[in-house]
Amino acid sequence: MIGVVKIGGAVGNDTRPLLDDLARRVGRGERWVVVHGASGVTDSLCELAGVACRYVTSPSGYRSRYVGPAQRALFEAAALSLSGRLSSELALRGIAAPVLRPDSVPTVRAERKDLLRAVEGGRRFILRDNYSGTVRSVAGETLEATWRSGALPLLPPLAFDEESGLNLNVDGDRLAASVALAVDADCLVILTNVAGLMEDLSRPESLVTQAGLDEWEALERLAQGNMKRKLLACREALEGGLARVVLADSRREAPLSHAVEGGGTQLWRQSPALRSMAVGL
Ligand code: ADP
Repeated sequence: MIGVVKIGGAVGNDTRPLLDDLARRVGRGERWVVVHGASGVTDSLCELAGVACRYVTSPSGYRSRYVGPAQRALFEAAALSLSGRLSSELALRGIAAPVLRPDSVPTVRAERKDLLRAVEGGRRFILRDNYSGTVRSVAGETLEATWRSGALPLLPPLAFDEESGLNLNVDGDRLAASVALAVDADCLVILTNVAGLMEDLSRPESLVTQAGLDEWEALERLAQGNMKRKLLACREALEGGLARVVLADSRREAPLSHAVEGGGTQLWRQSPALRSMAVGL
């Protein structure tokens, strides 16, 4: 099995159950790439450094972080320190997981969004000097070479920008979607601090257990805040040709196996109803 797993960066995510589960599965010969977020560690580092964190909402309703020059350096430091910690924890479990820094290993490249369009209180404005970007390419061959060397590739939410010569902040979920497409993964698993996509966050029984690309408009109506961008990443992966994306809980035991075996919200390129008809034929 070839898979990509993204572990959330927000407070409330637990990495220990994932790392135990991942080590067991990699030990059985499965090939996984780990992509992680860095929102929680970046917020803490900015607070320690006395640098303001600023989040804005785009005119199309997506929430994102404004990354000025000071925030960029802190985001990079926070992301790489979390990568280093995950790599050491995997090493303790017998798994070699090199951190693929995009400015030293040719992996992920991005196009910078220098100007960030935002809306606040009905007023539209533009923030300049932004250092986040959109992923433009992922070198699948570098990830495959890492697997061939017996290791597991570990990617921070960073991408190299040729023009500035810097690592930019990129969205971890959308990066994971691009990586899954680059390695032609069987499955993309996005682990987060909730059980999956919910109809009502206060009612656990309202978890959406499965849906297809053809039901996307209804799914999007359920998502608010960061979940909107997560769904965008899922859609990009499915439209790009991936068969399955799972949104599932990082906080339970064996979260990866739970997701692979049908837990959380299972999102399919082909709608679940059509798939079961095809099986019945
Ligand atoms: P992570 O860093 O784990 O990826 P995010 O904060 O980016 O976490 O996204 C997960 C959050 O999305 C949840 O904690 C929840 O508050 C929010 N959310 C908004 N709408 C929904 C929804 N319909 N179902 C589940 N979560 C939702």
